[in-house]
Amino acid sequence: MEKTYQKGDVLTVTIEDLSDEGLGIGKADGYALFIKDTVVGDECKVKIMKAKKNYAFAHLEEVIKPSSFRITPLCKNAKACGGCQLQAMSYEAELAFKENKVKNNLIRIGGFHEEFIESIKEPIVGMDTPFRYRNKAQYPIGYDKEGNLVAGFYAGRTHDIIPNTDCLLGREINKNILECILSFMSKEKISAYDEKTGKGLLRHVLIREGFTSGEIMVCLIVNAKSLPKEEQLCETLIKEVPAIASICLNVNLKDTNVIMGDETRVLWGKETIEDELDGVKFKISARSFYQINPVQTERLYKKALDYASLSGKESVWDLYCGIGTISLFLARNAGRVYGVEIIPEAIADAKENANHNGINNADFFVGKAEEVLPEFYEKQKKESEAEKLSDSDKDNQSMLHPDVIVVDPPRKGCDEKCLETMLKMEPERIVYVSCDSATLARDLKILCEEKYELKAWQCYDQFSRTVHVETVVSLSRV
Ligand code: SAH
Repeated sequence: MEKTYQKGDVLTVTIEDLSDEGLGIGKADGYALFIKDTVVGDECKVKIMKAKKNYAFAHLEEVIKPSSFRITPLCKNAKACGGCQLQAMSYEAELAFKENKVKNNLIRIGGFHEEFIESIKEPIVGMDTPFRYRNKAQYPIGYDKEGNLVAGFYAGRTHDIIPNTDCLLGREINKNILECILSFMSKEKISAYDEKTGKGLLRHVLIREGFTSGEIMVCLIVNAKSLPKEEQLCETLIKEVPAIASICLNVNLKDTNVIMGDETRVLWGKETIEDELDGVKFKISARSFYQINPVQTERLYKKALDYASLSGKESVWDLYCGIGTISLFLARNAGRVYGVEIIPEAIADAKENANHNGINNADFFVGKAEEVLPEFYEKQKKESEAEKLSDSDKDNQSMLHPDVIVVDPPRKGCDEKCLETMLKMEPERIVYVSCDSATLARDLKILCEEKYELKAWQCYDQFSRTVHVETVVSLSRV
């Protein structure tokens, strides 16, 4: 009979793999154990906390023999904080782990052969230094057990705040800004918001920096329409950190996990800060989406552009375009670009960013890619069959069978309807940017069934020390 395990059992296992969430996976008689804070190669003593039929979650009691990949985390909060999962692993091992995860998904879910996947792989692009890369941080504000005001991060799976004003993924200047705000609050007796009672004022502090402009935005998220002594707070902050270009107040009166509310007011300075990616300028407001690792984003987008292989005349769709970051990169090298995005505010930003850069060959549409694209396709196809085309229709006509389609969907990947229409549109090339290699592999299987061939793929480490990895893929018509 197979051995069964239960809560409280202590056993020794060797970690063989990591789950998508970064938990180490060890096996005992084929029974899988998921163990936090372990590294592939560790031999460890673990205690079962929660046992299911085929797997269990276990607690790390002791590392008996550390893996050769194990390092001492740089951040003293690495274990308690929910932010980074891979701090106890060397950066080389992290990069290898990420690339391998994508490769395995392409083989297992995508159905591609291992030798083929290896032969078209371009090596993962890591960071020069895998810390201090985030241009945005959102710190919850609250109290510790002694009732002191603190700023920090939520512990994994809870809303207990681990005090930390110097997250190593964020900028060093964040510490000065947060400490300045906390000491002002203490002095002026301004309260922090308490999630349990719904009382108190300051909920979060959001800090953003435009890496190329050096401009900093501080946004105070408040459980009221205003804060006491706003003017003095602004003066104090600007004196402490002269690079601050904008201070905003966002009102969030709701009992919710969503960080920001709908109303934002400028307290001091500008409404937006600016950043530049490879010469394209972006205006970023408190609520805009903007890639959080600009150094790696620029590298990734250059690769996407390289895979798009543009000469200046091409018609290109950029699906899931957000604020048009990739679209504007492409537009400089293409004839016409159409971007599609579900969030209306993002499209408003995309249009403004296009104007701001003098780019006039990019158009943007609000809606779901799986609705906008099929509707466009059906309408244009009918008109082309009727052969009654005005000049603007001729532009649209070139978009019916574009040269390139770029997609950059959220984790759930592309909707089947969207993939179907892409196949009908028959672009010469498809460039797929993905933040989830399982859905990427699923979608590639559909695209590569008949009409397309996988040409190359490459991973980019946009989120160092966490389990997330970005992949860019080049497809060509057979
Ligand atoms: N390419 C952009 C954004 C990528 S993130 C950039 O690099 O900045 C994915 C984007 O897809 C988000 O902006 C999200 O709002 C959008 N989105 C999500 N579901 C969508 C759908 N069904 N159709 C179109 N856009 C969608």
